[in-house]
Amino acid sequence: MAKVTVDKSLCTGCGLCVDTCPDVFEMGDDSVARVKDFKSTSCDLKDAAESCPVEAISVK
Ligand code: SF4
Repeated sequence: MAKVTVDKSLCTGCGLCVDTCPDVFEMGDDSVARVKDFKSTSCDLKDAAESCPVEAISVK
């Protein structure tokens, strides 16, 4: 499974990734996105990373 990270120093909390991939991303108490402990997803993670307006999502 891909390694996904969110750079909290970049994230603006727009919520786009949470809307796109709710099984992978969630909003934290600090109003920035974080990666859930997911096992699998049907979501296109590279697409989610490219859709982030501030390029805070990294997929490896
Ligand atoms: S799409 Fe990017 S800026 Fe928006 S909540 Fe997700 S990680 Fe943060």
